[in-house]
Amino acid sequence: AAQIWYENDGDLSVLEGKKVAIIGYGSQGHAHALNLRDSGVDVVVGLRPTSKSVEHAKEQGLEVKSVPEAAAEADVIMILAPDQYQRNIWKNDIEPNIKPGAAVAFAHGFNIHYGYIKPSEDHPVFMVAPKGPGHIVRREYVNGRGVPVVVAVEQDPRGDAWALTLAYAKALGALRAGAIKTTFKEETETDLFGEQNVLMGGVNKLVEMGFEVLTDAGYQPEIAYFEVCHELKMIVDLMNEGGMNKDRWSCSDTAQYGDYTNTCIDEHVRERMQYHLKRIQDGSFAKEFIEDQDAGAPKFKALQEEYSNVRIETVGPKLRAMFSWNNGKDEDADMATFN
Ligand code: NDP
Ligand code: MG
Ligand code: MG
Repeated sequence: AAQIWYENDGDLSVLEGKKVAIIGYGSQGHAHALNLRDSGVDVVVGLRPTSKSVEHAKEQGLEVKSVPEAAAEADVIMILAPDQYQRNIWKNDIEPNIKPGAAVAFAHGFNIHYGYIKPSEDHPVFMVAPKGPGHIVRREYVNGRGVPVVVAVEQDPRGDAWALTLAYAKALGALRAGAIKTTFKEETETDLFGEQNVLMGGVNKLVEMGFEVLTDAGYQPEIAYFEVCHELKMIVDLMNEGGMNKDRWSCSDTAQYGDYTNTCIDEHVRERMQYHLKRIQDGSFAKEFIEDQDAGAPKFKALQEEYSNVRIETVGPKLRAMFSWNNGKDEDADMATFN
């Protein structure tokens, strides 16, 4: 069985007298910096001086420095910039300044697993990867709860890497929910697989296609939106609580029969999932993504543009604006920064 750690398994005193640098102040960065600070950890945020997040972080009472300065004084450096920029930040700003023996930490195994970042042997390397978006990591902490994490150690030169990892996870609030032991390889490959095939690439395309089939057949977009998008959350909530047996239990026999006999997700889909898993395992997905990013992300940007204009996305905001319970929720996300 997988090893799982909880609140009593982490010792915050391991971080006493240590400085933790959080590099980046985006989705994960702001949550890690604020949660650790509120847990009594000495935190410094490392940002480019031009970043618009400098003011946000300072307003929250956090100490902010340039990345080289923050890296130079830290005993633990958690790298929370986007994955595709991390290796350049490491090479230019962190590696030349890092203290001997300082720990290097990640919230996703990508750069270590695919070999884009290779800290020298004297640095402990660990991962505390929240299995939820950064804004929920912060919201749960404030509410006295936590988002579960998966944790891993890649390098342990002194024998204290696991103690550091669990102390960090505890300060993040994650041990309130639980930390599951994994490896950088397992986390990276399963995280990419899940987001590509189910959570994002699977669900987003299912919803989009379902909406198009219904509206093409002449049904009202408001009704179609409800049936294939809005209700999804309620089904997922039930699944989250009690698995598929619970969402099936709560739905009608008619819905269940249609579910069991539906043929959309068939063996062809399994083969496509296995194909995408292979591309994750052999590194070709990572290579394609990083090469495009290095070229200025032409393919990525074109895809962002294309997918932000699919039919359900152009009518979705108008529909949600009509739903009184949803007022203002679109603005939670700073959509101006999305494209
Ligand atoms: P974001 O895109 O939200 O983070 C952007 C932050 O990185 C900004 O503060 C940005 O500052 C900073 N940044 C970008 N480039 C640089 C640079 N060259 N030097 C210094 N800072 C820079 O990232 P996420 O929080 O989404 O992801 C961070 C890590 O967490 C990734 O490894 C990701 O895989 C992982 N993760 C993310 C999850 C999520 O919820 N999003 C969930 C679990 C793991 P600026 O204003 O200067 O651009
Ligand atoms: Mg991911
Ligand atoms: Mg229905």
